[in-house]
Amino acid sequence: MTPTLVFASNNQNKLKEIAALLENAFEMVTLEEAGITEDLPEPYFTLEENAQSKARYLYEQTGKNCFSEDTGLEVAALNGMPGALSARYAGEQKSANDNMAKILHELEGNTNRDARFRTVICLILDGKEYLVDGVCEGTIATERSGEKGFGYDPIFLPNGELRTFGEMEMEEKSQYSHRSKAFKSLKSLLKNL
Ligand code: IMP
Repeated sequence: MTPTLVFASNNQNKLKEIAALLENAFEMVTLEEAGITEDLPEPYFTLEENAQSKARYLYEQTGKNCFSEDTGLEVAALNGMPGALSARYAGEQKSANDNMAKILHELEGNTNRDARFRTVICLILDGKEYLVDGVCEGTIATERSGEKGFGYDPIFLPNGELRTFGEMEMEEKSQYSHRSKAFKSLKSLLKNL
């Protein structure tokens, strides 16, 4: 039987991307459909804690099986920053342009441009908690290229590619992306439970 899971986000871009990634592994109910209209806070310094706290809150509020995810860009030369602070790295205005400018500035002249995107998913099924993640290794470009995607996409070059995520269609990005890998792991976890 296809399980029904509530997803802890009202972000329409994400809902679309994730619905495409999930195929028919389970039926996804949005936060709004579950009667929660506020954005869930992400106050912690690790992706794991943020994902757990969102899923736990949702489970407490709805009593339904659910999952949440948190994603961040981890830059090696910045000791893994911005990580869980990715959305607001350059301030509470949460501007993708300001965030990219800050990273490019901090890495100016630095030859170590290694970085990775990491997505952590927390699933709560019948009260039991599971964590899976997905990683996309790459480097930070020296300048922005492309206008597709969102967030840090125009400055992120996945390994083995000469184009940034900002230059790729969503389907191409999905072949590499952290989020698709994390959701593949979630699908196989659900199959094997
Ligand atoms: P979230 O946890 O998915 O909301 O991601 C937090 C922040 O990480 C976003 O606001 C973006 O700045 C960045 N981010 C997450 N996923 C991606 C991606 O696929 N490409 C570019 N930036 C991303």
